[in-house]
Amino acid sequence: MPITLSQLIPANNANVGYALAKELALQTVAQFGAVRSTGTGIAEASCCAAVAINPNPVTHFQAANPINGGAALPYSIAYGNSRIAASGLDTGNLGGHAERCALTAAAGEMLYLLPGSNHAVLFVELTPCGACQTWLNGGGGGVANPFNGIFNGAGIVTLNVWWRWAYPDDGGLAAMKTFHSWTTLTQQNDINVNW
Ligand SMILES: [Zn+2]
Repeated sequence: MPITLSQLIPANNANVGYALAKELALQTVAQFGAVRSTGTGIAEASCCAAVAINPNPVTHFQAANPINGGAALPYSIAYGNSRIAASGLDTGNLGGHAERCALTAAAGEMLYLLPGSNHAVLFVELTPCGACQTWLNGGGGGVANPFNGIFNGAGIVTLNVWWRWAYPDDGGLAAMKTFHSWTTLTQQNDINVNW
């Protein structure tokens, strides 16, 4: 699946999916902030990801409620974490790569497309590694990207990948760990104001 890569910063607010990516970032803070550093295996260095998918009550992917309040969103969310693989906590094939985990968790669902477009949106805290960029594009080993080659009426679907901190260089991991050390509310306020 073709991808775009954008850092989630205000300077990129004209790139496809910015507002949705910010909401996904807020949601990952709520999802993983509830369990971080409580002995679940998810701690401050664990990278989080989320991808917007179509709501599907049959498989319990309900429409998400916006973190900042308001009506239910038109999409549901599948989450990923670098400490989780398809079958649980794992540092194996799909472990260590939060974006792969999110997309694998959404296998069998439909990616949510921005209205009138063929653009899907994924948020991941750290820049996808080289192997993951290959995997997102349909290559690499292991369990394949379940969304390779999907089309809709507007053509092949592009996955717009938004990341916040550069990895492994430029202090991104340290910045993420500092962010995760804050309270959930402080993290969300930071996203609202500074991302
Ligand atoms: Zn990776």
